[in-house]
Formats: sequence, C-alpha cells, structure tokens
Amino acid sequence: MTIDSGTHDVATEPSRAEAREGFDEITILWISEGMSCDGDSVSFTAAGQPAIEDLVLGLIPGLPKVNLHNKVLSPSLGGEDFLAPYRAALRGEIAPFILVIEGSIPNQKIIEGDGYWTSFGNDPETGEPLTLNWWIDRLAPKAWAVVAAGTCATYGGIHAMAGNPTGCMGLADYLGWDFTSQGGLPIVNVPGCPIQPENFMETLVWVLYHAAGSAPPPPLDQMLRPQWLFGKTVHEGCDRAAYYEQADFARDYNSPKCQVKVGCWGPVVNCNVPKRGWMAGIGGCPNVGGICIGCTMPGFPDAFMPFMDEPPGGSFSTLMVKPYGAFVRRMRGITNAVVNREPKWHHNKPVLTSGYDPHWRP
Ligand code: SF4
Ligand code: SF4
Repeated sequence: MTIDSGTHDVATEPSRAEAREGFDEITILWISEGMSCDGDSVSFTAAGQPAIEDLVLGLIPGLPKVNLHNKVLSPSLGGEDFLAPYRAALRGEIAPFILVIEGSIPNQKIIEGDGYWTSFGNDPETGEPLTLNWWIDRLAPKAWAVVAAGTCATYGGIHAMAGNPTGCMGLADYLGWDFTSQGGLPIVNVPGCPIQPENFMETLVWVLYHAAGSAPPPPLDQMLRPQWLFGKTVHEGCDRAAYYEQADFARDYNSPKCQVKVGCWGPVVNCNVPKRGWMAGIGGCPNVGGICIGCTMPGFPDAFMPFMDEPPGGSFSTLMVKPYGAFVRRMRGITNAVVNREPKWHHNKPVLTSGYDPHWRP
C-alpha cells in the first residue's frame, strides 16, 4: 500500500527498523594481559543489571549477538584454542570487534631488545612471546571500538605510580588521546580499581546499542569517562554526607560519621559507587566504612597517598564548615527534641482539647 504523505512516498522509504545502520553480530576480544591483577575481569562477573549471562545469551532486546572472549570466562581449552579468535582478528577474519584492554601498558621502548614486561601468547614461528604492545599495535587500528577496563588500563593505576620500573601507562597515553576507532569512537575509559560491575556493563551495553545503530555514541568527558557515571563526586552520593554538613567527624574507623579526618577523599573524587553500591546495590566504600582513596582517578594512587591521612584540603574545609555545622547541629537537636513529642491533645480524658471548633454547626 502506498500512502501519499505529500512530499514522501512512504512505500519506498525504509521503516525505522530497516533504516538503522548497525550490526547484528559483534565480537568482544578482551585482553587482560596488561599490568593488572585481573580484578576487572573478576569484578564484572558480579554485574546483575545486566549480567554477562544476559549479554551473551542474547536476552537484552535490541543488542547485536555478542561473542565474548575473556580468559576468566572462556570455555576454551586455553592456549592456542583461546588465542584463535585473536589471531583471526589479526588476519582480518573477524569484524566488527570491540577490543577491551585490562591492565596498564608497559613501555617496551625502554627495554627494547632486552626482554618484555608482559605478553599474550607466542609467535608460532619463533616461539618468542608476543607482547601486549604488539597486540594493541595490530588490533586497535582494526577494532570497531576500543574500551579500557579499570584504572590500570585507563590511566596507569597502581603499576604506573612514581618510581615504577616499567614506565607503564594508560591506553590513551599509549595510543594517543585523539585515537579514533574504526567505528569513529574515542577510547572509552571505564576507571575503577576494580571497575564497578554495573558501571562497566552499562557502558558496554551503550556501546553495543550504538553498534546496533539504535543509540548515539556514549557521552564521554575530557578524560574519556562516561559522563553519566563519573560526573558527580563520591561526597555527593555518600550516606555520611549529612555528618559532614553538620561538622560531625569520625575519629576512628568504627564510627558511622564522616570519615574526612581519617583519610576520605570523597569530596574531590569522581565516582558513583556510594550511590550505586557494589554488588546488587550493597556496599559502596564510605557507606560501609571504607574511606575513598580515589581509585577511579587519573592521579591515583600518587595524588592520594599516604592513604588514611587526612587530605590536605580536608583540614581547611572542615575548619570552614565547623561554625556553621556545629550551630546547625545544635539547632536541629532542639527541633528534633520538639518533634519527638506528641501533641498535648493526644489524651484519653473526657474533654476534647485539640482546638476543634464546631462553630459551623446549627
Ligand atoms: S565519608 Fe567521605 S564522601 Fe562521605 S561525607 Fe565524609 S568526606 Fe564525604
Ligand atoms: S568510592 Fe573512592 S575508593 Fe571507592 S570505588 Fe569510588 S573512587 Fe574508588
């Protein structure tokens, strides 16, 4: 049937579903051979909204079929069996694919010809280890999207701290902050030590909806983090923030009060974990007694050490908030006592004292 819409012949136009340009199937090649503890691979197994199972079983409407390759979750026999899809991608036989890097990237140039820092499989011809750098150099330019999982892969993390011998760095430091994937995306950074499970899955799902042609690219900030996840501070989502506002500070780690004086950096750290919790909404660092040490931040860990010392700005800001906080806390205490009393007309005497006035009655 043709419907004349004035300027368009609707019969010849694709429907909205047909019009989308996207992929029906996509492969995720996850390499966790960066300098790391594999904690991000372990952490994302805890995701529930959505779970990895939902993703790989195709239970999320509108997503492409996902072929996930991750060594922690691999049903392969390991060795060459596990490496097969990575080698196929090198030959151009798998496309499109999303390259996920876990762990920081060492600087091979400082030891060139004198060994390697970290490797992923061997060269079949020479038997020599293939470095992580070798794989990134070859796979990143072919990848439809490139995702850095965890603070080590995003900004270097623990391994890249001052005095380290590896010269390691984050993926954007290695590939360049202006790197663009085959899909036209910058590197997508999901920091966290480790990644908060749903933070990673939510970002991955957004990238996959974009791959399906049904969502715009994920909005990223200047450090290439998802804006909707890292746009607020820990402090802004912390269960203990009311204690801070009332200048009521913990002196030890057993206290339920604000932990800024025992080392919490939450007021200046971009992270949604106190809001989101850790697993199934439970946990979230300061909410459950752990100071925030800034593990999602590009300056982590050096900028936040020594851990458990009061942050330098903390003593000034708490000094400023003290007069207001102490006064308001006292006022609220008085009001709290007032509103904790029942009105005096709640009694069982034979006279009504509530102030009810039946003057309108005839
Ligand atoms: S515990 Fe940390 S994040 Fe929570 S209110 Fe205190 S300073 Fe802010
Ligand atoms: S609250 Fe702080 S320590 Fe906890 S995950 Fe977020 S940045 Fe890391």
